[in-house]
Amino acid sequence: MKILFTSDLHGLESAYRDFAQLLKSAYDVGVIAGDLHDDYLPKEEIQRLLNLRDDDMLEELHSDEELNNPGEFLMKSIEGSYLFKALKIKVAILAGILNSAEKPILLIEGNHDLVGWHDNGHIINIDGNKVNLNGYNFVGYRHTTFEKTEVDQRADMPTIERLIDKKTILVTHSPPWGIMDESASFDYRKKDAVHIGSKPIKDLIMKKPPLLHLFGHVHESFGIRGRFINGSYPTVRRFISIDTSTGKISFVKSIFPVLFSCKCSKKLKASHAGQFKCPQCKTLLTIDESGKVE
Ligand SMILES: [Zn+2]
Ligand SMILES: [Zn+2]
Repeated sequence: MKILFTSDLHGLESAYRDFAQLLKSAYDVGVIAGDLHDDYLPKEEIQRLLNLRDDDMLEELHSDEELNNPGEFLMKSIEGSYLFKALKIKVAILAGILNSAEKPILLIEGNHDLVGWHDNGHIINIDGNKVNLNGYNFVGYRHTTFEKTEVDQRADMPTIERLIDKKTILVTHSPPWGIMDESASFDYRKKDAVHIGSKPIKDLIMKKPPLLHLFGHVHESFGIRGRFINGSYPTVRRFISIDTSTGKISFVKSIFPVLFSCKCSKKLKASHAGQFKCPQCKTLLTIDESGKVE
């Protein structure tokens, strides 16, 4: 089975398109380990997604009563806000791009995913759950120490532990503590990088080691270390290919943009599949979804 893995795409549509293209052309299943979009959208994008005028974007005033009851007020302001509505539309757009691959996509959310991702078409949310595929058992857990305390994560672990067996590919948003979880800051007292992984997840994998452990969240620690893979996309912009039949794990560049020379020798660039005309010699060029030019 060939798995295409990534994490922390943070709503980047071009990366979603690349991922879907690659998945469609050469893989059996896609896995994404959270931070699927950001909890923020630029004002212009909110306006575009919701079709709003400048007047609609003016800050809303809140009464003393609302401000004195921050819990309720916060929920109301998040759920009712334009940001929340725009994010829901954005999630639908991103899910549509993923579904265009017509391959199963197993995912979990991360600490930035304000809006929920539900099972939709080929997409399955595996948080707290397991899915069997080609003899492998995918198990997901979304929480990090950013939004759930260690004590509360520890309370979730027995449920996850029961789902793990020898054929488990564990997918968590957070790295386990101490493994590819080094943030960009340095602890001068301990003379070590600041580790921001999860201790409950570390204890879980020590007790019940999965076959493979895929995660993200700590962008700076992208990489492969044995059976541990931090697939964070933003720093290096590479996906990860896992071939379970050969055991080969490698970095993958996206197919697009494809750079090539036309037979008239003009250098050209195509950012998606389709039919094009060389602007110099007018030859008709067809570029398929695997990036092949004819
Ligand atoms: Zn992230
Ligand atoms: Zn994160």
